[in-house]
Amino acid sequence: MSSLVVDNLAVRYGGVSAVRSVSFTVSPGESVGLIGANGAGKTSTLRAVMGLVPRSSGTVMFGGRDLGRVPTRGMVRLGIGYVPEGRHVFAGLPVEKNLLLGAYASRWDAACRSRLDSVYALFPVLGEMRGRLAGALSGGQQQMLAIGRALISRPALLLLDEPSMGLSPKLVEVICAALQRLRADGLSLLLVEQNAMLTFEITSSCLVLENGSVAMTGSSSALRDDPRVRKIYLGL
Ligand code: ATP
Repeated sequence: MSSLVVDNLAVRYGGVSAVRSVSFTVSPGESVGLIGANGAGKTSTLRAVMGLVPRSSGTVMFGGRDLGRVPTRGMVRLGIGYVPEGRHVFAGLPVEKNLLLGAYASRWDAACRSRLDSVYALFPVLGEMRGRLAGALSGGQQQMLAIGRALISRPALLLLDEPSMGLSPKLVEVICAALQRLRADGLSLLLVEQNAMLTFEITSSCLVLENGSVAMTGSSSALRDDPRVRKIYLGL
């Protein structure tokens, strides 16, 4: 089992410092949240972990391997799944084809078939709509599809960027329940969210990012009760 260890990560876009000295660990089976306001640096942190934006300093290790030397395709093989912000499903392809594309880094075999079945068990609506074009799905169904596609490669660690974005409260509940179930099955999660309450429900610990830096860390239950967090991030 592999831990994700992010040490002293920094990301710059030209003159803009988006992420500064961010360090955290996601241990096997653990579920960690990154919360913060718009522009706090959450997406940049996740994209830097995936090697989708260059790190200006710091290291990212997974299972003792330096991910700085691993191409994104190789990360899937190492057991990292990624659900990007905005879902990015292939609108012109059927639901099942979208899911199968998640298996591109592995050989198609009986294990892939059983993972497809387990995605349909997690999100029955995807099974019912397997022949429909992904572009015809609702936003919530597309989010399920994006999560399902990442699960097909059987990750040990799943990174999710704002899975609740733009969804109705009812669909947020469906996504929340699915993530809790995956967590109970032993999947490690790194969840980026603006929805702090949702994040506290799913994760065991969280980092609060402000202006690219870690402003607070702690157990999700302690942060949920913190007066500053309640005021700024929960609006209570
Ligand atoms: P959001 O919830 O809006 O996605 P975030 O916490 O994920 O916010 P980032 O998207 O990581 O934050 O942005 C962090 C900072 O970096 C912001 O000031 C943003 O304007 C800036 N930024 C992000 N992407 C780029 C880019 N490609 N070029 C220049 N600046 C960028």
